[in-house]
Amino acid sequence: MKLLYEGKAKRIYETQNPNEVICEYKDALTAFNGEKADTQSGKGALNCAITTLIFEALQKEGIPTHLIKQIDETKQLVKKVDIIPIEVVVRNIAAGSLSKRLGLKEGTKLPFSIVEFYYKNDELNDPLINDDHAMILNLVDERKELDILREYGRKVNEFLIDFFDKTGLILVDFKIEFGKDTNGNIILADEITPDSCRLWDKKTGKKMDKDLFRFDLGDINEAYKEVLKRIKESK
Ligand code: UDP
Repeated sequence: MKLLYEGKAKRIYETQNPNEVICEYKDALTAFNGEKADTQSGKGALNCAITTLIFEALQKEGIPTHLIKQIDETKQLVKKVDIIPIEVVVRNIAAGSLSKRLGLKEGTKLPFSIVEFYYKNDELNDPLINDDHAMILNLVDERKELDILREYGRKVNEFLIDFFDKTGLILVDFKIEFGKDTNGNIILADEITPDSCRLWDKKTGKKMDKDLFRFDLGDINEAYKEVLKRIKESK
């Protein structure tokens, strides 16, 4: 298989079909823009399984995703897309960079969910941007595409709040990415995993996401395994 692209957490391989690629989840873990890095054996398989279950559920809700099917423990067959270099972050509770930037105590419930855009650019450290910035950087072709990203962001959030609630987890915030398929449609791509979401246990408040790694708070494999188990049980 010809490797087309290798990122921090995934590898993308070519297939015979020009409209499809294979997405392989790696065991590598990074935080703070790659400054902190480690490997956790088994993490790739856990994230692959979690994303598959969530993307299949979102697809049923009418949210288009790149997922075609999972093909082995760490690989998915997905539609080939051009990734839009915008990280769409949706937040329900203050944490992470929002708490830092605005001085909001971690755990403060926001009066309404908010959607933010970050420019996917490692050299610039993924800066927060507004619609005008996205337009002058040509990150999308038309301004209305930003409304589509926001709209999908909100829909995914509505769905995921309930989805995780059923597993006994609070969805604090998450990041999603979109791409344009070979027909030019905007579809959900990348992953939805405890690497890209903040998930807190409803009963104990325990963190069950990448913050365990970011701040050396505990074993991520154990937590991610528990997240997958709860998703399977709640189905
Ligand atoms: N996030 C991500 N990748 C990034 C930046 C953020 O998956 O490059 C996720 C992060 O895990 C959290 C949410 O997006 O669930 C909001 O992250 P935040 O802006 O608070 O940044 P952080 O402090 O986590 O770097």
